[in-house]
Amino acid sequence: MTTLYDLHCHSTASDGALMPADVILRASQMGVSSLALTDHDTINGLAEAAKAAIENNINFIPGIELSTTWENKCFHILGLNIDPDNSDLVAGIKIQQSLRVERAKKISLKLEKKSIPNSYEAVIKAAKGGMVTRAHFSNYLLAQNYVSTQQQAFDRYLGKGKPAFVSTVWADLHDAVNWINQSGGVAVVAHPMRYKMTASWMRRFLTFFKEIGGQGIEVVTGRSSPDEIRRSMIYANQYDLAASVGSDFHTPDNQWVELGRLAPLPKNIKPVWELF
Ligand code: AMP
Ligand code: MN
Ligand code: MN
Ligand code: MN
Repeated sequence: MTTLYDLHCHSTASDGALMPADVILRASQMGVSSLALTDHDTINGLAEAAKAAIENNINFIPGIELSTTWENKCFHILGLNIDPDNSDLVAGIKIQQSLRVERAKKISLKLEKKSIPNSYEAVIKAAKGGMVTRAHFSNYLLAQNYVSTQQQAFDRYLGKGKPAFVSTVWADLHDAVNWINQSGGVAVVAHPMRYKMTASWMRRFLTFFKEIGGQGIEVVTGRSSPDEIRRSMIYANQYDLAASVGSDFHTPDNQWVELGRLAPLPKNIKPVWELF
């Protein structure tokens, strides 16, 4: 039997639609054999998912997706196979969580100036104690008919340079990689093709990431085109980074992204799970 890996997805602990146990259940239905849950800046879903994984015969890998800042740019770094009890990691996450709450308040004030009231209360309620993200705001804007699609919410209000965008200084990239490494995990650059960086910025970024102890890069994601996979492969080989695969699944409502529905990892590359 072949092993199907999916090393990037979300639950209600951040902006996913399914409870952690239901993510596991769905992964099992989709034929995934090894799953990492990687919620934004939180480990709160991991215990429930780990328990459900035992019941569903899934090899569970504890993970996280950390929001980080390097040279005023935001990068998402996955921590795979982390120890969720590590004190450095836990302390780091705590800061991220207050940054997220502060940012949500500011986003809400900016939306208010655009005559969109009550969004803070709504997103906090929707997050149900989990990490609040811009996805919660886009859900609110959609539910209240201020926009007609999630994409429109980002294009009109929440995206970089739009009226309700709040620039945030997240965890320093170097610190975040240290937390992951100190917790015994592997630091992986999430969705490298989504940052819209020039080749020279990408070179500087990956050189630095490697220098500070980063070990992997996502080569296959849920929506990667063959060309994106090829380009990510080249980066992985050039910077001697192991290759990861992850759908970035958030919700069953998005028909384009499903747990385990991933292009195969090209053969001539070192898979990140060899480092676990
Ligand atoms: P945050 O980490 O709070 O900035 O929120 C980022 C999250 O918003 C991502 O993880 C996605 O779930 C979601 N997101 C970002 N851009 C878009 C977009 N253009 N359309 C739909 N969802 C998006
Ligand atoms: Mn998300
Ligand atoms: Mn991300
Ligand atoms: Mn993600």
